Amino acid sequence: MFAVPASGLTLRKRLVKAGTSGLDTAWMAVDAVVPDEAQVGRPGLGLLVITWGLGHERLSIAAQAAGGIARAIGLTAAHLHRREQFGRPLHEHQALRLRLAELASRLLTLRFAVYTAAQGVPVAGACGARETAALKVVAARFAEEAMSECMHMFGGAGYLEDETPLARMWRDARLARIGGGTDEMMWELVASGLVPDLPGYDASVDLTTTANREES
Ligand SMILES: Cc1cc2nc3c(=O)[nH]c(=O)nc-3n(C[C@H](O)[C@H](O)[C@H](O)COP(=O)(O)OP(=O)(O)OC[C@H]3O[C@@H](n4cnc5c(N)ncnc54)[C@H](O)[C@@H]3O)c2cc1C
Repeated sequence: MFAVPASGLTLRKRLVKAGTSGLDTAWMAVDAVVPDEAQVGRPGLGLLVITWGLGHERLSIAAQAAGGIARAIGLTAAHLHRREQFGRPLHEHQALRLRLAELASRLLTLRFAVYTAAQGVPVAGACGARETAALKVVAARFAEEAMSECMHMFGGAGYLEDETPLARMWRDARLARIGGGTDEMMWELVASGLVPDLPGYDASVDLTTTANREES
């Protein structure tokens, strides 16, 4: 396997991120010649190769989101059972219990989707660029919302860095909406597959006829 020699790498600047501090990020200058035998695809097929790679990356981001959300819901469920306010555990306050149940229901749906997509990715035509984009954007946006809601259910402690991991999880989850392609790019991919069924539409919703009827 080809590796860029350390002498070909120059650190330009360390970058400080809003979250995911466990992942070092830096602006690097790369000065290396990649030999022919290290090519990851045939010349001219770059877009195909990167699309294949991004499909896997986007699926893995959706899976990471599901894992993070599961942890947040688990921690929050435990907290709601332990913390008492107004004489009873928070879990007995319906407003909180049902909100957590709603997040758990959506997580269940996301998990099924991730498992199904993972089985489909290696099968031609079963789970392509549009499907992985749709899954990634839904998962990433849900992760941001779920982390925020769970942090909220911890009250003030949720916002404190050293008391609970929720603040960190909230900040870390935000990257999923950017890395691997932003929400807008995912939606563009999904939109490119929205082919209008005009004859079917006309047959069911004939607005021209309705308008004519109203005018007469
Ligand atoms: C810590 C970190 C890790 C990363 N890791 C990865 C990684 O592992 N893999 C990976 O692929 N990428 C990764 N990225 C890069 C990431 O994919 C890009 O930052 C992202 O695609 C956005 O590109 P940009 O930063 O150039 O923003 P810009 O392209 O400048 O976009 C700015 C804003 O404008 C919106 N926008 C841009 N063009 C349009 C348009 N045509 N229509 C509508 N809205 C538009 C974008 O959605 C965004 O909201 C990482 C980024 C960071 C910060």
